Amino acid sequence: MTHSLNVLNQQIISCRKCPRLVEWREEMARVKRKAYINEEYWGKPVPGFGDENAEVLVVGLAPGAHGSNRTGRQFTGDASGGFLFPALYRAGFANQAEAESRGDALRLKNMYITASGRCAPPDNKPTLEELNNCQPYLERELEIINPKVIVCLGRIAFERILKIYNIRNSTYKFSHGAYYQLPRANWLLCSYHPSQQNTSTKKLTVKMFDAIWETAKELAKRN
Ligand code: SF4
Repeated sequence: MTHSLNVLNQQIISCRKCPRLVEWREEMARVKRKAYINEEYWGKPVPGFGDENAEVLVVGLAPGAHGSNRTGRQFTGDASGGFLFPALYRAGFANQAEAESRGDALRLKNMYITASGRCAPPDNKPTLEELNNCQPYLERELEIINPKVIVCLGRIAFERILKIYNIRNSTYKFSHGAYYQLPRANWLLCSYHPSQQNTSTKKLTVKMFDAIWETAKELAKRN
């Protein structure tokens, strides 16, 4: 499994399928934000990371230009990660609440974190074509990891998973805390994305987010 994930992650890191995103991610890495001017940005597609034997797979949207496009690790180095990792620590999925860089001591337990798109998009909005280009990487991760629970952070991740599983049933609706059964005894759990916009407006609170990870743990125990 380690070998398969390593091969996949190398494919992801060297991908240049979407010209607009290649240009954007590299330009952001060149120009940089003032606060990070002395840092070397990652500037490439961001692979998934975590426990390869995970029962819980988390799917986000796409890297932030100065977050994971800078650090090279999902949700690391931006406000979304600053909300996510403390919650994962409280729930026992992470060994620490802080996430600063690829080289820090953060380790995930029973969880793998990935995304619908691997390259930072302008305005945090990948196009449909770009998400379609990136989908095979997510499909391959699902095959390799075979999680019991998929947690979708945001509607875009939710719709991507429905597309992968070829689900057109209108009873599958995105709403925070909703969960559904997927083929092959997987569970699909919806959460609002921990974006700064959602957390600063209290659309997503700490309490609401903690409840998601408790539900994820409970679903992982079900058959
Ligand atoms: S978004 Fe995905 S498919 Fe497009 S260039 Fe990045 S890694 Fe490749």
